[in-house]
Order: sequence, then C-alpha cells, then structure tokens
Amino acid sequence: MSSVHDAKIARRTFVGGSAAVLGAGLAGPIAARPAMASGNPPASAWTALRKQLDGRLYRPGDDGYTSALKTFDPRRDGQRPLAIVRAANTTDVSEALRFTVKYDLKPRPRSGGHSYVGASTGNGVLVIDVGGMNKIVYHSDKSVSIGAGVRLGALHTALDKHRRTVPTGTCPTVGAAGLTLGGGIGTENRLYGLTQDALTTASIVTADGLVHNPTSSHLSDMFWAMRGGGGGNIGIVTWLRYKTYPALPGEIFRLRWSSKDAHRVLTGWQHRLAEQPRHSWANLHLDSSGGAVTPSITGVCWDGSASAEIRAIVSAIGKSPSSKQIWQESHAGAMSWFAGGSAGSKRQSWYAGSDVVGSKIYGDRADKVIRAVGSWDGAGSVAAIFDPLGGAVADHSAGSTAFRWRSALADVQWYVGLTKTGSTNLDKAAAWVERCHGAIGSASVGGYVNYLEPGRELSDYYGANYSKLVSINKSYDPHGVFDSRYSLPG
Ligand SMILES: Cc1cc2nc3c(=O)[nH]c(=O)nc-3n(C[C@H](O)[C@H](O)[C@H](O)COP(=O)(O)OP(=O)(O)OC[C@H]3O[C@@H](n4cnc5c(N)ncnc54)[C@H](O)[C@@H]3O)c2cc1C
Repeated sequence: MSSVHDAKIARRTFVGGSAAVLGAGLAGPIAARPAMASGNPPASAWTALRKQLDGRLYRPGDDGYTSALKTFDPRRDGQRPLAIVRAANTTDVSEALRFTVKYDLKPRPRSGGHSYVGASTGNGVLVIDVGGMNKIVYHSDKSVSIGAGVRLGALHTALDKHRRTVPTGTCPTVGAAGLTLGGGIGTENRLYGLTQDALTTASIVTADGLVHNPTSSHLSDMFWAMRGGGGGNIGIVTWLRYKTYPALPGEIFRLRWSSKDAHRVLTGWQHRLAEQPRHSWANLHLDSSGGAVTPSITGVCWDGSASAEIRAIVSAIGKSPSSKQIWQESHAGAMSWFAGGSAGSKRQSWYAGSDVVGSKIYGDRADKVIRAVGSWDGAGSVAAIFDPLGGAVADHSAGSTAFRWRSALADVQWYVGLTKTGSTNLDKAAAWVERCHGAIGSASVGGYVNYLEPGRELSDYYGANYSKLVSINKSYDPHGVFDSRYSLPG
C-alpha cells in the first residue's frame, strides 16, 4: 500500500536498500535500541525535527498547541504532552518515532482521539497524531485504502457513493484505525463480521522507524495481533486497506417497555439472540438515572424484515412494548441515524467499562444486573448497553485473530454519561462500574479492548490469546518503546 500512497516511503523501502523491511516475513527482533539521550531533547533537536516534517510540530507555547492536544473527551484537555507531531505522511511518523527513541520519549499514537482512558495523550508524552492522514482511495476491486486519520463518518460517506460499506462502529468521529485495531463492533457485524475482519493489509511503522505491510500471509503474526490487539501496541498504523460489502438499505426499529419489565426484556432479548438471522441486529439498553431501570431495544434489519423481527423479539420477551417505532432508511440514512446525527460528533465526557457476555444472564443474575444498573447515585445518567455478537463474527475461530470473543453472545458496556467530572462523581462512576462487573459475575468471560478501563488486568481483554499477543508485541517492540499503562508489555 505504501508504494501506491506514499511515494516517499516507497522510495526509501525499495530504492533506499531496506527492502528487507517489507520482505522480512518473520517476527525477528528489530534493530537494537541506540544509546538513549536524556528524555529532554535540546531546542536544536526540536528545530531539526520541525524542519524534517512535512506535517506540523506543536510544542507548548506554539500557536495551535492547545487545540492540537485535544481529544474527544474534554476531561483530558488538562494533559500537557511534551509535543504533538501532526503527521502528514508515513515518513513523518518514521521520523517522529526515530526521534522518540533517540531521546527516550514516550510516544502516544493518535488517530481519532476517542480512547476511553485517554491513551492517546498524556503529560510529558510525544503525541504522534495521524489524524491529518485522511485520504480515502476506492479501488477497482471494490477494496478501499484509507489513511489512518480517517473517521468512520467520512469512510461511510465515501463508500456510500459506490454503494459499499465496511462494518464499523457507529460514532462518526471515531478513528477507523483505533476502532479496527481493537475489533470494531457495530450494526453490520452480524452480517459482515467485525471491522478488523474486513482488513486485508495495513502500513505500520515500528519503533525503529521502519515500515511494514503485513497481510494474512506476510508477517502474519503481526497481522494477527493487529486484529483485536488494540491500538498503542507494536507500531503506528498509517494506512489500512479493507474489503468492502454491499451497502443495503435498513429497516430500523425501536421498542420500549416500562421499568417493571426490565427482567423479562433482558432475558427475552438474549433468548431471541440465539435464533436471530444475521441480517438482523438489535441491541438492548438498560437506562437509569438512579432507581428505575428502563429497558429498550433498538435494531436494524438489513433485508427489510423488521416487522417479523419485532414479532420474534416480542414473542421471546412475552410482552408487547409500550412504544414501538419502525421506519425505513437508505444505507447512508441508517448509518447517520445510528451515528446520532450532528449530536454524535459533539465532544463529551464519560466513564465506562465492559464485559463480554459468555453465557446467558438469567434468574437471580439478571435481577442483580438490573439492581446494579439502578444503583447509580451520581450526577448524569447510566446505561448498560448490550451489543450482540454472533452471526458473521462467529464465522472465525477464537484463535484466528487476537479478538478472542468470537463465540460470545454480546458485549455489554457499562456507561456513565458524565455531567460532572469532579473526583466525587468519577469515584461514583468507578464504583458503579465495579458493581455492574460484580453483578454479571461469571457470565462474563472478559472485556472489550476498545472499551479500556482504569485498573483492569490487561489479560482480561484477550483471554487465552494474551500470551501469544504479548510475545508478538515483544518481538516487534523488544525495547518496550510503546510501553504505557494500557499497552501490552514490550
Ligand atoms: C463516542 C464513542 C463511540 C464509540 N463507539 C464505538 C462503537 O460503536 N464500536 C466500537 O467497537 N467501539 C466504539 N468506540 C470505542 C473506540 O473503538 C475506541 O475508543 C477506539 O480505540 C478509538 O479509536 P480512535 O482512533 O478514535 O482513538 P485514539 O484515542 O486516537 O486511539 C485509541 C488507541 O489506539 C492507539 N492508536 C491510535 N491511532 C493509532 C495508530 N494509527 N496506530 C497504532 N495505534 C493507534 C492510541 O494510542 C490509543 O491507545 C467508541 C468510542 C467513543 C468515544
């Protein structure tokens, strides 16, 4: 891909004599880390870096620094990176990484800036932001190549012109790169698989500044780890290439019940999930502002079968909803509706955790989960959002990529929309998420790495894939350049 899209890198890798980088094929150790400087580059070094870049370098005091440091969550605006490299191309990323190693800095890759734990920023780190690399190239074989800065909304807008899609998450400003590296859960998963399942190759720059283009047959261990291992590991992705699928119109539905029906809706939704055809996708919300827990189901049928799907859901629940809406949308309309329209792009603060539902939540456990959701005692509101897996997600084996949860029923996100971000409310949010984890108990088999949460064991996100993932990460980042609180050990 880089030979097509990034002429500078193509010259370097093929003409400049390091073709072995692309042809290595093995997870062999990369170049030894050079003797490190102080972690505090002199002014002259920053000046030299600035000159080398095609993109921009922002240091404290520079115009644009305070705007460049912002991520999606305003809660992180107080973080003060040492500098932000706004990369224009793969070469800039290589230069920034070489600089990082030379001066013993902590690199923080960033694409869309939506990390749940602020992993793409930090005090004293060097942010390497590929958000400006936002080209989209649609190919005659119906695949699409995108710069790592492309956001989901832009990707769908571009693909819709060709009546094609890639199954992604819903928020329009989420970075495709960050989403793909961790899996990618959304409304077309059951039909087409996870976002990462559509990935055919990518360009990734390792800590030594070299560029690799892994596929399922070339550097296959690296490619395995990049599908579910999560961002911030191994290297910095600069390009991604996906196969695409037909973009179908959707029939959307929303069903609501009263809070006294929460138990039967939770159990009935799971019952239906086991039978649901892969053209149907329906998630379950348990919403609360503390006290009453309101259940609702929102779904889409990509084959126009929503009336039949609603009948099947209602039959599994055993009670008609108190309100029901059903309507048709073009594919673009459905994507835009699930994206939340223009409100979906608005910066916001939240606190969340997740569980992967490995077995059904019934009886006492269902009651406990509902009680835990309703136990919220802070400012703002909470939701348990159950997103179904199954269908095409389960077409691959649990060890086929780093995403372990192929046979799980669903992912549940314990989500607090923060209207106050003081420490008292954050402590309450953390305690609420803990209560939800406790309530789901052994029905959970792990967590979803794209919904990282503070203090959780990293191995929880990968299950039995963890040790393989750690060993692959170590082989490509032997000096732990990408080590951080939330990264795999290098
Ligand atoms: C509002 C909102 C809605 C969401 N909806 C969904 C959803 O529907 N489905 C779903 O599956 N997930 C969803 N997510 C979670 C999202 O997938 C993850 O937060 C994802 O990591 C965000 O990627 P990003 O590029 O936007 O974030 P960033 O903060 O830029 O990056 C996230 C992580 O990846 C690393 N990283 C970023 N870019 C690169 C790169 N180019 N190379 C290597 N590492 C990199 C970062 O260092 C960080 O560790 C949502 C998140 C938010 C905030």
